[in-house]
Amino acid sequence: MEHTLTCNNLKCRTELAEKALVTTCSHIFCLECAQQLGITAQSSNRRITCPACREVLSNPDDAVITKLNPSEDYKTSVLSGLSPDVIMECAGRALSFWTYQTNQEICYQRHLYKTLTDKYSVLNLQLDKTVNDANAELESLHQKHETLTAECEGMRRRNEGLVQQYRDKTRQVLQLQEAYDKVKRKVEVGEIEKAAFNAVDSSILHAAQQATQTYDAHNYARPQQQPGQAPDHASTMNSRQSRAPNLGLGFGNRTWATQRVSPRIGTT
Ligand SMILES: [Zn+2]
Ligand SMILES: [Zn+2]
Repeated sequence: MEHTLTCNNLKCRTELAEKALVTTCSHIFCLECAQQLGITAQSSNRRITCPACREVLSNPDDAVITKLNPSEDYKTSVLSGLSPDVIMECAGRALSFWTYQTNQEICYQRHLYKTLTDKYSVLNLQLDKTVNDANAELESLHQKHETLTAECEGMRRRNEGLVQQYRDKTRQVLQLQEAYDKVKRKVEVGEIEKAAFNAVDSSILHAAQQATQTYDAHNYARPQQQPGQAPDHASTMNSRQSRAPNLGLGFGNRTWATQRVSPRIGTT
């Protein structure tokens, strides 16, 4: 594979194929770079320097445009008429130019290789650090996930326990509510029975008082005893007691009040 020369302007490095500008300091440039850098201006009054090595190109033949793909006629005539020594010297200088360009390209590629290797090493270190950081972060997140999972499981169990306690409390509340309703009904029934007994007692007491008043009025309304006959109080009281209506109430001690039957509350 034939090596192709490139423009010695490092910002250009275009592969040269047709024409190029060569200098006696063994550098070569594309025509565009030569024009932009002012190398092509052939004037005896101007001091032209090589952009690559800062060599002063004072002579008109120090920077010339050459054909890189010369015609057969050019190949025939370019060295024709010269002596063999001059021909060999020209060929030797041309080969030296080629060798210098090749070595410069090798040095440039080595420099490029070293620069890229250094960059690769730096990037590789950065990549390793990034991977290690990512792995550490991943491990940390994994541990956090396990911790959160354990906490979630604990909270779920606690929630289940609270739900069970809530159900038990709800059941107890229902039982207490039922017991309260039963007691409330018993109390209400007791109040009703008490009111009924009071009403009955009041009626009986009223009836007894009326019966007593009626009896007394009837006895005191009888004719008085015969004159000269002493009043027999004992027989009178016996007669009153024997004629008193037997209501079973026990006058004077109100046994009817103490014999009141306590209200019986059904437990079922
Ligand atoms: Zn160029
Ligand atoms: Zn130069």
